[in-house]
Amino acid sequence: MNSMVLVINCGSSSLKFAVMDMAAQRPVLVGLAEKLGLDDAFITFKQDDERISFPLSHPDHRAAMQAMTDHLRQCGLMESIAAVGHRVVHGGEVFKASALIDDAVLAEIEKCVHLAPLHNPAHLIGIHHALEYFHDLPQVAAFDTAFHQTMPEHAYLYAVPMELYRQHGVRRYGFHGSSYRYALREAARILAKPEAELALVCAHLGNGASVAAIRAGQSVDTSMGLTPLEGLVMGTRSGDVDPGLFNHLADEMGMSALQTTAILNKQSGLLGLSGLSSDCRELEQAAAQGHAGAKRALEKFCYQLAKHLAGQLVAAGAIDALIFTGGIGENSAWVRARTIEWMAPLGFALNPAANQDCTRGASGFIHAEGSLPVLVINANEELMIALDTAQLAGLTQTTTQPVALS
Ligand code: ADP
Repeated sequence: MNSMVLVINCGSSSLKFAVMDMAAQRPVLVGLAEKLGLDDAFITFKQDDERISFPLSHPDHRAAMQAMTDHLRQCGLMESIAAVGHRVVHGGEVFKASALIDDAVLAEIEKCVHLAPLHNPAHLIGIHHALEYFHDLPQVAAFDTAFHQTMPEHAYLYAVPMELYRQHGVRRYGFHGSSYRYALREAARILAKPEAELALVCAHLGNGASVAAIRAGQSVDTSMGLTPLEGLVMGTRSGDVDPGLFNHLADEMGMSALQTTAILNKQSGLLGLSGLSSDCRELEQAAAQGHAGAKRALEKFCYQLAKHLAGQLVAAGAIDALIFTGGIGENSAWVRARTIEWMAPLGFALNPAANQDCTRGASGFIHAEGSLPVLVINANEELMIALDTAQLAGLTQTTTQPVALS
């Protein structure tokens, strides 16, 4: 039975994929080709807790796609795949939802390259290879930005001359849309309330991190902006800084805009503050052993997060739940506890035991009695992309009926 959707997330040096069983709504095989462009490029497949890796014949995306399709054939999965879904970071203002890929859609994704020069070109490479390798299957693009297209003007505009917006697309777009949509879907199920009636404040905390406000089931604000650099402290990204920094570093150090941008994207955030690592788990271990840089980085991370969450409460207007998701949001009881401590004046308090229990795949409520609800949800962007793909490819109908947790 053709009930599988292949989800592809193609980056500049990696190709990540998942074969999603749409009946069970879970992956049956996942894989990752890494170090594309380097001599030691390799691909890893994981199925039923078994993991195997192979070096790639060539260190490029085509070889990765070939290795992936060879493996799918060997596993007998190739015939089951009915459609392919692609993650695309930037869909500009054109894409307000996922889209079935045709020449016009490809041309529009191409037009968004200037908004995401690090991401969209790699996605296009992945899409073109997939169109070749899966030429008889419908293919869908799911955009990280699409969910935030409902943001009102007062949220998406920067206070800069309107020509910069009208002629050059300078506005806030927001990212992590598929993760927020999944969180919304799960919240509706857990709270037994229709998506359209939910007011949520969500934190997606992975290597990239952002928060978003959802009002009546729609995104009304988020912390990332024109690029994924704005907002929270992230693994290696600074989040908010004074734009005057660019000129300051040019005067002080002769730094170009490109050099400053690279520092803000790659050497800042948890890594820059700690001088140790961009990895939250490593920093928690180091902080527990007294590492001053690790403590400093984690403190700043939580403080900035709490301030942004408080701001998103204004946008949401009400709150059915505050949601933590993404690798840090799902696993770091310490980050959640410290963040909620900052938010005590707003009516939040944690149940410490429930908070400690929510790690490594466990999700659920973590607030104390009398607190506003706080919920941990495991991110599942692949499922969201697969559901859109199945729907646009005509494989399913949408059925997002809220059902209370038993
Ligand atoms: P990406 O944005 O690359 O998808 P993830 O969502 O996987 O990233 O999140 C990665 C982050 O989650 C890393 O900072 C990692 O240290 C953190 N993380 C994972 N497990 C834990 C844990 N048990 N405790 C604290 N942080 C964790």
